[in-house]
Amino acid sequence: MERAIAGGIISSYYRKLQDCLEVDVAVVGAGPSGLLCAWDLARAGKKVAVFERALRPGGGIWGGAMLLNEVALQQEMRPVLDEAGVRCLPAGDGLLTADAVELAAALIYQAVHAGARLFNGVCVEDVIFKDDRVCGVVINWSTVLDANLPVDPLMIGARCVLDAGGHDAHLTERIARKAGVRLDTPTGSVMGERPMWAERGEQATLDNSGPVLPGLYVAGMAANGVRGSFRMGPIFGGMLRSGRKVARLILEELG
Ligand SMILES: Cc1cc2nc3c(=O)[nH]c(=O)nc-3n(C[C@H](O)[C@H](O)[C@H](O)COP(=O)(O)OP(=O)(O)OC[C@H]3O[C@@H](n4cnc5c(N)ncnc54)[C@H](O)[C@@H]3O)c2cc1C
Repeated sequence: MERAIAGGIISSYYRKLQDCLEVDVAVVGAGPSGLLCAWDLARAGKKVAVFERALRPGGGIWGGAMLLNEVALQQEMRPVLDEAGVRCLPAGDGLLTADAVELAAALIYQAVHAGARLFNGVCVEDVIFKDDRVCGVVINWSTVLDANLPVDPLMIGARCVLDAGGHDAHLTERIARKAGVRLDTPTGSVMGERPMWAERGEQATLDNSGPVLPGLYVAGMAANGVRGSFRMGPIFGGMLRSGRKVARLILEELG
């Protein structure tokens, strides 16, 4: 029996990874924007791999705010919550609240169930960059990086890469620096996140989401980091709208 347990896990995982050596879209980070984008792309028939550095996907959803595990969303997000099967309550001022655990679990389930492959415990440490275009990601086990082991990574080819890695936009910043390229931002580089301003931050998250380099898109807090906009606290409508917008733009590009 032990041999069957180990053999089954190894061959299933190997099949899954092997099938993702070339994907349409590599999503970096399984927070709300990355998960919704992956869900939309997978149900549109695209081959999607999501790489999540942490053991548990869901990014910053789980803890709500200050560990009060509820999140706020604008009423317009009700159809997305309904689609995902997430219940919500009116909270006044045009807002809803939803259980953070239910939201995280639903987005993870919907993305994977629609066909996106989610690799948790895997960090994107770099990208493949050829002829001025991002065309894949360079991955390694998070544990290898945490332990600072001198172990070479593996590569995954992708027609598009989405940086949905959250605050500070580390990945996009690294790509721009290493490749020596100008990003599609007012300064040509990562501008850094600004202080709290909920209304402006929510709208900016949507406006800032999109392509920043050929082959590279940004969504969620990474988009705000790259294009220098305001943080907005534990309100998640902007994150979801950002993921949905980028999925639409990527579908337009890929056809
Ligand atoms: C410490 C902290 C501070 C927060 N501050 C704010 C705030 O100021 N304003 C606000 O609106 N919300 C804040 N939040 C709430 C909430 O996290 C975010 O609004 C929301 O979750 C951001 O969604 P996102 O889609 O950008 O990705 P996130 O939820 O940030 O998720 C990004 C995911 O990407 C993964 N990741 C990052 N880099 C890599 C990589 N190289 N390879 C693989 N995986 C990677 C991370 O492990 C994470 O799971 C905060 C949350 C946390 C935990």
